[in-house]
Amino acid sequence: MRIIQSTSEIQRTITQLRQTGKTIGFVPTMGALHQGHLSLIEHAKKESDVVLVSIFVNPAQFGPKEDFNQYPRDMQRDTEKCSHAGTDILFTPSAPDIYPEGFRTYVSVEGLSEIMCGQARPGHFRGVATVVLKLFNIVKPHKAFFGQKDFQQTVIIKRMVKDLNVNMNIVVLPTVREADGLAMSSRNQYLSKEDRSAATCLYRALKKGRSLFEDGNKDADKIREVILHTLREEPSAHLEYLAIVHPETLEEETIAGKGTVIAIAAGIGTTRLIDNIIL
Ligand code: AMP
Repeated sequence: MRIIQSTSEIQRTITQLRQTGKTIGFVPTMGALHQGHLSLIEHAKKESDVVLVSIFVNPAQFGPKEDFNQYPRDMQRDTEKCSHAGTDILFTPSAPDIYPEGFRTYVSVEGLSEIMCGQARPGHFRGVATVVLKLFNIVKPHKAFFGQKDFQQTVIIKRMVKDLNVNMNIVVLPTVREADGLAMSSRNQYLSKEDRSAATCLYRALKKGRSLFEDGNKDADKIREVILHTLREEPSAHLEYLAIVHPETLEEETIAGKGTVIAIAAGIGTTRLIDNIIL
């Protein structure tokens, strides 16, 4: 595995690879890698000649009161995991390389970015869309791989790629979970022992909603009620939002159907967690 820090060097390398007809699969991450990330890398390996993983904790997507400084960083372990999962190139740019002095251009995917996670995290998706488009321009992948875990992010990135004629495919892969159902996340490390066990309520609640739907109840209000009831049983869970939405427009649905997404954000103790399920 090659490790490249410099943007110009990665661009030179990609140009050469593309000239020899290689397909590039790209997995952007913020590091603190877990099996969720590794599943994207392993899948990318099956669909591309060269797998490129980036690790960049993107300051532009953190709010002023968020955990940018505390965000877990462990480059040595991440390097080992990447190599083991079959990564060919690991790209680890520095913040000044991505946001040099005088940086002024941002990407806003309007309408999709201000709702759901965007309400509690204003500017978050502007930071995400901007860095992802920059990385796409640098890496020029044929395919990029994202996790369903961050469902709203996948919708925003797909919209951006379509709207801005970015010539590549976005592949979304299923959420990888712990044995008890908790969606893997770099932020799970923040959870205390008690909060870690309480955190299972998100997926438990989502599954209750799905069972109701599968039993023939399509009324979104009914599904919402069951989910809220399950979440209320967990005293350390503080619901931020529960959205039952269309998978592309993210508009609230009154009648759930196949493809409808149920998404939750909740605080467990002091840790903010998200999860979702596609019906
Ligand atoms: P992050 O490092 O949190 O920015 O995530 C990098 C990529 O990994 C994103 O596409 C995430 O959606 C994806 N990802 C994070 N957690 C999981 C998970 N539990 N299962 C699948 N993909 C995930």
